[in-house]
Amino acid sequence: NGSLKVYESLKKLIAEKGLLAEIDLVKEVSHEGIGVNISGCHGFCQMGPLVRFEPSGLLYVKVKETDCEEIVESTVAANTIIERLLYSDPNTGEKVKTQDENPFYKRQVRVTLKDCGRINPDDINDYIAHGGYQAIAKILTGMTNEEVIKEVLDSGLRGRGGGGFPTGRKWSFAAVQPGPKKYIICNGDEGDPGAFMDRSVMEGNPHSVLEGMMIAGFAIGADEGYIYARAEYPLAIKRIRKAIVDAEALGVLGKNILGTDFNFKINVKEGAGAFVCGEETALIASIEGERGMPRPRPPFPAVKGLWACPTVINNVETLANLPAIILNGATWFKGFGTATSAGTKTFALAGQVENTGLVEVPMGMTLREIVFDIGGGLREGKKYKSVQIGGPSGGCLTEEKLDLPLDYDELLKVGAMIGSGGLVVMGDDTCMVETAKFFMGFVQNESCGKCVPCREGTKQMLAMLTKITEGKGTEQDLVLLEELAQNVKDGSLCGLGKTAPNPVLTTLRYFRDEYVAHVRDKK
Ligand code: SF4
Repeated sequence: NGSLKVYESLKKLIAEKGLLAEIDLVKEVSHEGIGVNISGCHGFCQMGPLVRFEPSGLLYVKVKETDCEEIVESTVAANTIIERLLYSDPNTGEKVKTQDENPFYKRQVRVTLKDCGRINPDDINDYIAHGGYQAIAKILTGMTNEEVIKEVLDSGLRGRGGGGFPTGRKWSFAAVQPGPKKYIICNGDEGDPGAFMDRSVMEGNPHSVLEGMMIAGFAIGADEGYIYARAEYPLAIKRIRKAIVDAEALGVLGKNILGTDFNFKINVKEGAGAFVCGEETALIASIEGERGMPRPRPPFPAVKGLWACPTVINNVETLANLPAIILNGATWFKGFGTATSAGTKTFALAGQVENTGLVEVPMGMTLREIVFDIGGGLREGKKYKSVQIGGPSGGCLTEEKLDLPLDYDELLKVGAMIGSGGLVVMGDDTCMVETAKFFMGFVQNESCGKCVPCREGTKQMLAMLTKITEGKGTEQDLVLLEELAQNVKDGSLCGLGKTAPNPVLTTLRYFRDEYVAHVRDKK
């Protein structure tokens, strides 16, 4: 989007003025000049490239290379704000000066994204300067693995990849397994349409993922881990690989970490983009060099996982929460969120909303707050119709659900799920049957074909939806569609098939009149 050009241009122009500071976090930081730093994603994608000034927090949006000269002359050299580069609040029309005052950021609570958009992801010293590797140091200098597991159990952290299983509980199963070899796998195989939370963390703060894996490894007694990331995320993979090399060189990863007898090695495995490889057992098969297909459980990976060894698989966002939990404690973490869903959750806010991007909010925040307060409401004066939450595994929620607190359990009650955190906002001109068809087409394409209910069921459901949207359906088709959706949900082997019917079931439940209109009016 031109960010790198803006960065290079600002650096060059500031240097030409003799104002550029030498930033060397190891030796000495020159406070005399002005540092220009590059960062990962700030989350406010739609307004990028962003330029933030520190310490004031002044935020310029949609900056172009051609703006740089004026920025240096006016803001850097003369401390004057350039009004046209400020964000304009779509609701009030007011210009917003700082990031903290910006409605997109004001209601957010950033734990996993705290340093994304703040530190240079390619500089391990920048991570350390912001408290990085302090959590693993704290563990290695005074905590037992039981204490680490207890802290995470007490924190109430649940898996952020979609399942919502308590992380500490998963660890405790693996920790008690016998055997000299155990593994930690970081699941970075984010495949939901519109979701890019994990990508952003891997690109913006890769060391937080490594540190999280080390904490998990220490807790269960593992000395090796794999990061499974999609090959479609080349920048994330490049930064993760560099982070591993830098961390090993500094002695915070590898053998005898920080001079202790704790060893931890991290490997990177590039996935080929099969959505089903987000399923734990399919992911393990893929790392082992097999075709990525799920297998029945039990045995669960915590008992028999990678190369038949006890294995814990945690998602990127789950792992990135761990350093903050260890440093600040379980009680601090439980201070955010709801009674059964502690902490924060990152959502990828997309669709027909004014402000799109990544938002991290306390669990339990309502859809209304996210869509209207943070997202700025719908674009082009459209009226809110629905939000598709949780990607292809999730569901579509109506206007009546706008005040529903978003947490694992509340969403399940209405037939949806947080999933990995995709939020697609739809206006009143969206056809919900077409929306259901889109997601069904996606899962049908991604079905691995191992079990009949998913392989055949999703194909038939897609055919029915196509027939209905082409105006060739009947009311009997709606009955069959609902029945088949329930059968696919009940009979499929893995999570992909079990959740694939959710968009159809929720749209049939909340927008049945649209299906009926298609079959009655033959349109
Ligand atoms: Fe494969 Fe679908 Fe069966 Fe999962 S539910 S094993 S993706 S066919």
